[in-house]
Amino acid sequence: MEMNGLKCGFCGKGRFKAITYAVEPGITVDAGKCEKCGEIAVSEDVMGKIEALRAMNSEQRSIVQVGSSLAALIPAAFVRKLHLKAKDRIFVFEKNGEIVIKTKLV
Ligand SMILES: [Zn+2]
Repeated sequence: MEMNGLKCGFCGKGRFKAITYAVEPGITVDAGKCEKCGEIAVSEDVMGKIEALRAMNSEQRSIVQVGSSLAALIPAAFVRKLHLKAKDRIFVFEKNGEIVIKTKLV
């Protein structure tokens, strides 16, 4: 749901203006900031997605260009947890429009 233009429920006077908000390092979302009181709010839809990302311990990353290929950096916490190192073999799948990386096939 779009927050832009909605009436602020905190002060009851201002309206929300669309902003990009860093909920926490690595997670930015579409949010609304009240032009009167400055309160920041996200829609229920976005809040649900944030909760899902937190539950998966997910971190936002950018895709980078490496030579003629595209690459995504693996968060350091996952590298430690899974004992990954350079040149380890991984398996990359596309499933329902998402990219899945596995360290083992089975
Ligand atoms: Zn307000």
